[in-house]
Amino acid sequence: MPIIQVALNVPVDTVFDYYADDASTADIGLRACVPFGKKLLTGIIIAVIAETQVPSAKLRSAQFIFREIKPLSQELLQLFNFCSRYYHYPLGMVIMNGLPIKLRNNQPIQLKKNLTEQRYGLTPAGALIKISDIPAKQRIARRLFKEFHDSTELSHHQIQQISPRAIHVLKDWLAQDWVASITTADKPIEANSGPPLTTEQARAVALMTATPNQFKAWLLHGVTGSGKTEVYLRIIATVLAQNKQSLVLIPEINLTPQLETVFRARFPATCLVSLHSGLNDTERLMNWLQAQNGEAKIILGTRLAVFTPLPDLGLIIVDEEHDASFKQHEGLRYSARDLAIFRAKQANIPILLGSATPSLESYHNALIHRYHTVRLTSRAIENAALPSIECIDTRADKPREGLSKALLAAIDRCLANKHQSLIFINRRGYAPVLLCRSCGWTAACHRCSSRLVVHLRDKKLCCHHCGHDEHFPRACPDCGNQDIAPFGQGTQRIEETLATHFPAARIARIDRDSTRRKNAWKDILQAIHTQQIDILVGTQILAKGHDFPNLSLVGILNADTSLYSTDFRASERLFAQLMQVAGRAGRAEVPGHVLIQTEFPAHPLYHALQRQDYDSLAQALLAERKTAKFPPFVHQALLRAESHVMQDVMNFLTQASHLIAHSDSIEMFDPVPAQIVRLKGLERAQLLVQSASRSQLQEFLGKWYIEINRLATHKIRWMLDIDPVEF
Ligand code: ADP
Ligand code: ZN
Ligand code: ZN
Repeated sequence: MPIIQVALNVPVDTVFDYYADDASTADIGLRACVPFGKKLLTGIIIAVIAETQVPSAKLRSAQFIFREIKPLSQELLQLFNFCSRYYHYPLGMVIMNGLPIKLRNNQPIQLKKNLTEQRYGLTPAGALIKISDIPAKQRIARRLFKEFHDSTELSHHQIQQISPRAIHVLKDWLAQDWVASITTADKPIEANSGPPLTTEQARAVALMTATPNQFKAWLLHGVTGSGKTEVYLRIIATVLAQNKQSLVLIPEINLTPQLETVFRARFPATCLVSLHSGLNDTERLMNWLQAQNGEAKIILGTRLAVFTPLPDLGLIIVDEEHDASFKQHEGLRYSARDLAIFRAKQANIPILLGSATPSLESYHNALIHRYHTVRLTSRAIENAALPSIECIDTRADKPREGLSKALLAAIDRCLANKHQSLIFINRRGYAPVLLCRSCGWTAACHRCSSRLVVHLRDKKLCCHHCGHDEHFPRACPDCGNQDIAPFGQGTQRIEETLATHFPAARIARIDRDSTRRKNAWKDILQAIHTQQIDILVGTQILAKGHDFPNLSLVGILNADTSLYSTDFRASERLFAQLMQVAGRAGRAEVPGHVLIQTEFPAHPLYHALQRQDYDSLAQALLAERKTAKFPPFVHQALLRAESHVMQDVMNFLTQASHLIAHSDSIEMFDPVPAQIVRLKGLERAQLLVQSASRSQLQEFLGKWYIEINRLATHKIRWMLDIDPVEF
């Protein structure tokens, strides 16, 4: 009887054998439901064999093979295999991590006949209607109407997202002929053309489309506002012309809906699907299947989308390639950017990494000609210059409540000119610390080694690491003093201070707290674009990708904390972040001005920022890393471990460090506590291993991983983190 080998979602680095009388090699890649212990689990068949090492008495039979969809192609299996080997993570868990949730359980898939979701648009009659024709009371109808106006067409699902009642409104409008369903046949076949390219953009497009069907990695290094998106769109158009698929990876941020709108408007006749955490399981599966059957030509997604099956892949784009969210920070700690490179090689196609501040890894790869570089050095919109950047020396101009006189004066001028300003402080909440002024006690999380952040609105203290919250204490628990007060600034406090300084100004705060409500982010963006907001206060979620044409001033608070961090990547990240935030200013006709409050105006990082000179900073940082033996000059792996007792963790790591001998090319450090020692009640420590040779490091890790697996570790949770980015 044939035997199937099944990869299961269990933390054991092996596949499992089962009898399956109806199986053949054609079934490789199908889902199988098999007994595992007392449970039934669904996994993926990765081989069909005639003989097994498992004694026949022990060999059980598969329950069922699901034949309605084949989740895994040969090509995807190769990707998962590579991923499992490179990250030293069990194949079954790698596969299950990469598949839509609906394919991971014991349920058969109900395939809708027509995968393509119905889409709707306004009819010419509908387009004549004004929003004021709809009574203000019919809020859902107004909202739906506005959405139709903003996005030209909406899917059934998008309409449902507005409100379940919106579907009823839709039915009314269909009956009245205000909207109609759109079929692909109705759509213009031609893509919309877009603005004429700048000379630099045209050159970039010409270069990157010259060799379409071969692997080539391009670093598209373009300043903020240089029109990288337009370059992507033009290159995608050439890939569409060959009837091939383009995979566009973007960071895990609120950018997806906006970009989706831009892409749909450009390619109205093209089937585009998005894959991100905002979708429910069914939508995700449907979009995934459309990618798999080749119907979807543009796939727009966050890091997980790198595992999408793409039979006709012609191009991969990684936008904001330096962004930390391309690396998963739990479970399978993969880098979607690095896997994207693997996929491009595998499919023998070009890949574009776009950024204004490339990661030093990619920058280095470009310097040594492993990647090809294309530059965009000026802004795409005519007359839009790069912003001027200045430092405010806070040793002379001491901030009160976080704001210096010079910054307040600049905001005032900006208000007088009816321009918008943005105050960036990368710390949400009211204040980072609750302090007893008498004994120095500060409120700390009992589960983590971190301070609790004051959230004055909710009258709570919150841990930003584990989510724990508690009420304000009435008095200091250590000394009984009642003089305890928030110390330092967060977005809420800055918002409050600005409101007292500028009572007439309309202020909006944008951070994870203020955008949690569904549609909140959309509403705020809308308010910004319709000039209903004068001052924005926000964290890094403001920094990326957004275009605010009337924004002329950016104020940056509290950036100094990262200047002298122990994390060797802190400077690189700070620079990228500040460059992004600064890049929000002056994107259209309004010239931009950036003010940085700092005690270290002479710091080389601020100097480089003022000159907008990423290259000199990158080269200086690379030189430092070369001498200090940091990536990209070495390759690193971390053995991370956690447990309730620190001593157990340290003992485990010490034992692990002695497991196998290694050559001189491998450098192994002593176990050390993690940056955040306690997290969610667990003590954490780690062991760093590095080597100048990636292949030797990999060879070592392969052997080491097997040995660590053999260590008795019921008390310890451990994992290898390859190419770690946080310590
Ligand atoms: P980046 O991603 O490089 O920061 P964007 O792609 O957001 O820049 O483009 C910045 C702005 O320039 C956008 O408003 C975009 O519409 C505009 N733009 C891009 N290319 C052109 C062009 N060739 N002509 C006119 N405007 C352009
Ligand atoms: Zn006290
Ligand atoms: Zn905590």
